[in-house]
Amino acid sequence: MTIRTRIAPSPTGDPHVGTAYIALFNLVFARQHGGQFILRIEDTDQVRSTRASEEQILESLRWLGLGWDEGPDVGGPHGPYRQSERMSIYQQHARQLIESGHAFYCFATPDELDEMRREQQARGETPRYDGRGLELSPSEVQRRLGAGEPHVIRMKIPAEGVCVIDDMLRGKIEIPWSQVDMQVLVKADGMPTYHLANVVDDHLMEITHVIRGEEWISSAPKHQLLYRYFGWNQPLFCHMPLLRNPDKSKLSKRKNPTSINYYRRMGYLPEALLNYLGRMGWSMPDEREKFSLAEMLTSFDLQRVSLGGPVFDVDKLNWLNGQWLREDLSADALVQRFRDWAFNVDYLGQIIPHVQKRIHTLSDVVPLAGFFLAGMLDVKAQDFENAKLSADQVRQILQFSSWYLDGERAWNIENLSAGLTTIAQAMDIKMRDFMIPIFVAIAGKPQAPSITDAMGILGADISRARVRHALGVVGGPSKKEVKAWEKQYRAIFTSDSDAGE
Ligand code: GLU
Repeated sequence: MTIRTRIAPSPTGDPHVGTAYIALFNLVFARQHGGQFILRIEDTDQVRSTRASEEQILESLRWLGLGWDEGPDVGGPHGPYRQSERMSIYQQHARQLIESGHAFYCFATPDELDEMRREQQARGETPRYDGRGLELSPSEVQRRLGAGEPHVIRMKIPAEGVCVIDDMLRGKIEIPWSQVDMQVLVKADGMPTYHLANVVDDHLMEITHVIRGEEWISSAPKHQLLYRYFGWNQPLFCHMPLLRNPDKSKLSKRKNPTSINYYRRMGYLPEALLNYLGRMGWSMPDEREKFSLAEMLTSFDLQRVSLGGPVFDVDKLNWLNGQWLREDLSADALVQRFRDWAFNVDYLGQIIPHVQKRIHTLSDVVPLAGFFLAGMLDVKAQDFENAKLSADQVRQILQFSSWYLDGERAWNIENLSAGLTTIAQAMDIKMRDFMIPIFVAIAGKPQAPSITDAMGILGADISRARVRHALGVVGGPSKKEVKAWEKQYRAIFTSDSDAGE
């Protein structure tokens, strides 16, 4: 049997370090067994999925050196590898489950289901689908389908008993069927849910080992049952421990940058980041911290994955990256890396037009444009003091801007100007004054080339991180302020919903 693993990202946001971590373990496991590693795009959520996000995910995995054998860009014998292009396959499989009696139509409206859940809660029960669709007679179902009534397709779930999942790392996991809902497989708009599409594709793509994050454990009973309903062999499941913040909470961008783009733009080496991700929950037999992908491949043993939540600690990554920079690159190689990173023609070409008008000598460029080439800036609370704004206004401007920038998906100068102007107007602050703290946060000084242009060039990751850093320097909202500020912030964008979150 050829071992086949996969990474199946949903292209709904920035490329996440968690995706790279899971991809790495899938790739290493497959390669070690002479198998194949597949990349599949799970874009059935048509509202949140974008092509831009897909491209960034592919690009950042490639940058890390995590290449795949089959995928939407390279093709392969089991394509298409983008779920949005496989709709007829899912529809055909959903029909098959209806015919075999393992799935059923449900015509309940969203209001009816809300009412059902409210009643269950009032009785002190856990809200769950009560199986009302199963009570319809076949002729009633046909009549309602014929009348074109909106409906979903749900899977049947055993009424009692316990589902036992065999996990490669965790052994037997028991989940009572009473905790598993009659999952929707096909939504009212005809789109499959993750569960149906994922199982059908893993089978058709001949995936032998599903290595994914532990957040999917609760979905495993539904998946196991679907394999049984279809009469297919089930791949082996392996649920990896989730990456955590240093305080052990689930890794989140509020506490740590999570986008691979951020680490790339900050100037981490791909080999160091990959090495660091390899250390998440796994260790070399000799416990050494620094190792290459090739070394990980020779020594890999899935059983050495430890289930204690691995902490993604940026200080530790800094240390490791420093080791790689010092020990593995000659001065010439470092010059080359440095040039490729930010001193390349493309990046300098974007910066130079913004300083050209203001320089007298070439040596003026770096003092003016250094912030384009830096990571976090060494700003102090007093840098934000100014005659036009109170300290509280500065804090609020930075917090509102940070929320706005974090939510802005289409990062371009027009959107950024419109979004920040909307906030300034709502706060009744002149745009020129409103921008002072943003200038300091982004450029380290109250004047610079157009700051929205600068944010466009710096990109979303560094810009967001600098505004968040500035907020930390001046002091973000207290626990008491948070609620009031969130309310005010939401009110700014309710009438202008596409400018931010
Ligand atoms: N699309 C899911 C995700 O975004 C894939 C989960 C799985 O690997 O089954 O993580």
